[in-house]
Amino acid sequence: MYDLHTHSRCSDGILRPEALVSRAKEHGVTVLALTDHDTTVGLPEARLAAAKADLTLISGIEFSCQWNGIGIHIIGLNFQSDHPQMQAAEQQQARSRDERAELIGERLSKVGIQGALAGARKLSDGGVIGRPHFAQYLIDQGHVSSMNAAFKRYLGAGKPGDVKQMWPSVEQAVEWIRAAGGVAVVAHPDKYKMTRTKLRRLLDDFIEAGGQGIEVVSGNQAPNTTRDMRLLAQQKELYASCGSDFHVPDQPWQELGRYAPMPNDIPTVWELW
Ligand code: AMP
Ligand code: MN
Ligand code: MN
Ligand code: MN
Repeated sequence: MYDLHTHSRCSDGILRPEALVSRAKEHGVTVLALTDHDTTVGLPEARLAAAKADLTLISGIEFSCQWNGIGIHIIGLNFQSDHPQMQAAEQQQARSRDERAELIGERLSKVGIQGALAGARKLSDGGVIGRPHFAQYLIDQGHVSSMNAAFKRYLGAGKPGDVKQMWPSVEQAVEWIRAAGGVAVVAHPDKYKMTRTKLRRLLDDFIEAGGQGIEVVSGNQAPNTTRDMRLLAQQKELYASCGSDFHVPDQPWQELGRYAPMPNDIPTVWELW
């Protein structure tokens, strides 16, 4: 069983890479990719744990990008994680995340929320800082009652904390992944709230840049979406990937290895490695 989209506490997940690997094993996963946002720092620990647990670990990363003003996530799989281009990419993304965090902090202070940058930094605990850390701070301070509300009111698309101008293009992310010998995959294509026409255009640009894969199955996805994504993959001749997008243990709808079965009549990304 393949789970090729997961997060550890090195980005916005909760578990250490080692604990993530154990949990994946418990849930029947046999091939796991750790795909933290914009970082591969968790991979060495995950690799060691996977070797002990007799589970195959695939190197992974989830790059934040933008395309026509929309925030898009591109997954890299099975690349050489110590490749100089990948290392440089991670450094660039880390700088962008720091810059972005400062901007988010400033914007939140303008709408009356103080101390958000320091609070989010503390919550990120030395890992990659992201909007979920700001969301947790907003909850802790009583500004909102849930993650969902934090994104709806303050951090989601079109809200003060939605800052994405520093992210690279989709083409750039694909280039980084390809340079390091990996396979580029469009993450959770249904989550961008794009029309199908727009999504097709994104896929065309992605393919032209050298992208090869699309997540046909993502955690917590409706069956008709899987059907649509399968069809899109077929039409665009993309290789199918699947993954839970696991972040935290207490959300049963987004658990390791738990997602709809992959359609068995289309080529998969693992045929590429
Ligand atoms: P960032 O990488 O800093 O832009 O933050 C994006 C992350 O926030 C995603 O990867 C999700 O883990 C999380 N996220 C996005 N939207 C929501 C939401 N509505 N509720 C909870 N978490 C969300
Ligand atoms: Mn996330
Ligand atoms: Mn994502
Ligand atoms: Mn993810």
